[in-house]
Amino acid sequence: MRTLSIVIPVFNEQDGISLFLDAARPAVDEALSLIGADARAEYLFVDDGSADRTGDVLEILSRFNPDLRYVRLSRNFGKEAALAAGIDHAVGDAVIPIDVDLQDPPEVIVDMVRLWLAGAQVVNARRADRSSDSWFKRWSARGFYALLNRLSDYPIPENVGDFRLLDRQAVDVVKQLGEQARFNKGLFSWIGFRVATVDYVRARRETGRSKWGLGKLWSLAVDGITASTTMPLRIWSYVGGAIALIAFAYAGFLVVHTLATGVDVPGYASMMVAVLGLGGLNLLSLGIMGEYVGRIAREVRQRPLYIVAADAGARNVGGAATPTLDQLERDEEWTAQPIRA
Ligand code: UDP
Ligand code: MG
Repeated sequence: MRTLSIVIPVFNEQDGISLFLDAARPAVDEALSLIGADARAEYLFVDDGSADRTGDVLEILSRFNPDLRYVRLSRNFGKEAALAAGIDHAVGDAVIPIDVDLQDPPEVIVDMVRLWLAGAQVVNARRADRSSDSWFKRWSARGFYALLNRLSDYPIPENVGDFRLLDRQAVDVVKQLGEQARFNKGLFSWIGFRVATVDYVRARRETGRSKWGLGKLWSLAVDGITASTTMPLRIWSYVGGAIALIAFAYAGFLVVHTLATGVDVPGYASMMVAVLGLGGLNLLSLGIMGEYVGRIAREVRQRPLYIVAADAGARNVGGAATPTLDQLERDEEWTAQPIRA
């Protein structure tokens, strides 16, 4: 029996979940029929510490959808950590992370599964058209990928998000990468394996609103660069070397010049430019070093990437058609909790 895990991180998405299930089911069922008669799905939602009724919606839906399972995190850990939690918990032979807002069209899942069955181990979904994203988002994403791929030790394909298919072997490798500063897109490309690509058109968000402000996108971008390359650290030895060479040449010139024409006092402007310019460069290089050192500190602390508060639902996934004792106990835990108003 082969299982297809659909992993959906959700943060304050109470209205989006049913919409997502309704839209995804036909596509997932079609994909299952390609896999075989005994194939089944696991819809694994990761409730990333939602403050709205997302948790209640998932609990209720899981009663009517035996293939729905949800992992609730103890607080909001951010999408990258939530996705890592989903990948860690998924039981499928193939795992597909997808956004709940239907910006990743579920129909693409059918093509992904087709390529997987044909032998691909990682199937990337590439956004062929991003006209539904804002001008700024497209422009900044283009700039980011251009920079990252110039610096990075291993290129990350442009316009491929987290939406992709990973087979069990790839998932097991990703699970072993315990990085704290999580940049899933980078990890997914870094692992290699037989890769195929499908193109799709990025849709508009269906309900709710985007949770990625400018600040979060900026930290994700810095995480992406520091996780992919140490070039920004190494570059300073070359910059320093170049400046030192120029300085020595200029010093030689000054000595000769002073011997020939005597001391010439004015020079305030050139002095200030040199002091301020070099001071700025020093601080910049120190700041970049700080970005790396901060991440080293975070890695050294070895805190878990996320904390699981509950794992429930999915009565028929994991091999049991009837609830196991363990699952019943988990359900008990849930019914004992008052539903938040
Ligand atoms: N998400 C999450 N935790 C967060 C922020 C977002 O699990 O802290 C989920 C969100 O519910 C959605 C997915 O990540 O399913 C993508 O988020 P969003 O649509 O806000 O991102 P965008 O499409 O704007 O990049
Ligand atoms: Mg979105």
